Amino acid sequence: MRKIIIKASPLKFISLIKSSFIYPFCSLFLLLGCLDSGGPSGHVDTISLETKSNHIKALFFGTGPYASVLSGDNGCPSSSSRWQAFPAGSAVEVIIPANVSSEDEVFVLEEVNKLNVAFAGYMTINVVVSSHTKIPKATTNQLTINLLNTAEMKKICSSSGGGCIKTKFKGNNYELIKGDSYYPINLGIFDIHEIGHGIGLCHVDSEVFPEGTMASSGGVDIRSFSDSELDAINTVFTSGLVVGATEQDFWDAGLLP
Ligand SMILES: [Zn+2]
Repeated sequence: MRKIIIKASPLKFISLIKSSFIYPFCSLFLLLGCLDSGGPSGHVDTISLETKSNHIKALFFGTGPYASVLSGDNGCPSSSSRWQAFPAGSAVEVIIPANVSSEDEVFVLEEVNKLNVAFAGYMTINVVVSSHTKIPKATTNQLTINLLNTAEMKKICSSSGGGCIKTKFKGNNYELIKGDSYYPINLGIFDIHEIGHGIGLCHVDSEVFPEGTMASSGGVDIRSFSDSELDAINTVFTSGLVVGATEQDFWDAGLLP
């Protein structure tokens, strides 16, 4: 087993968000008076907060105008209507098989690094490269990524092309324990979507808000976490709320303005 430890830096996350989200957004509106105190900045803020609120609702509860309505399934890993996640302080391992391509290994490392920055100390994820090509089933605080042939994918995921994840929760149905995810070996780890479910995220409707890998359902492949997703994750995981919080708790904490 090869363990790769990633150190998170909250400052890096803030600058990432600023440089790639706020600044282009602002420069877009600069011509319209983004920095003009009497200009439309209040209007811009309202749209931005509403967008963020809608994205948080879809990602964490599978509700609101951005929620996926594909075949009546909001894509949440459990049927609980509460915030589903690993408990605070968890040290989680994402385990990838020995035969993963170096490109996919780097991809998973980069995505997990983004998550650790967004978690800002709430929990940590380390990437472990297994010495096996067939990884043993996940134990507590593990998320595995398995590469299967077409027949195995059909059997486990009932899927002809996409990936899937089987998650396990405590009896309360919202505290994550572990998960095993599966991708077709001919495509490799083509997105980080299943690990998104593995940390408790639901689907976002790609036709309404095609931002980030959780909007990948329905045949649209969006490989990586988007700045908008990472911002939503950062907001929720640093809010001080505990796993199992309700949508009302999110409203009361000001996360859904
Ligand atoms: Zn999904």
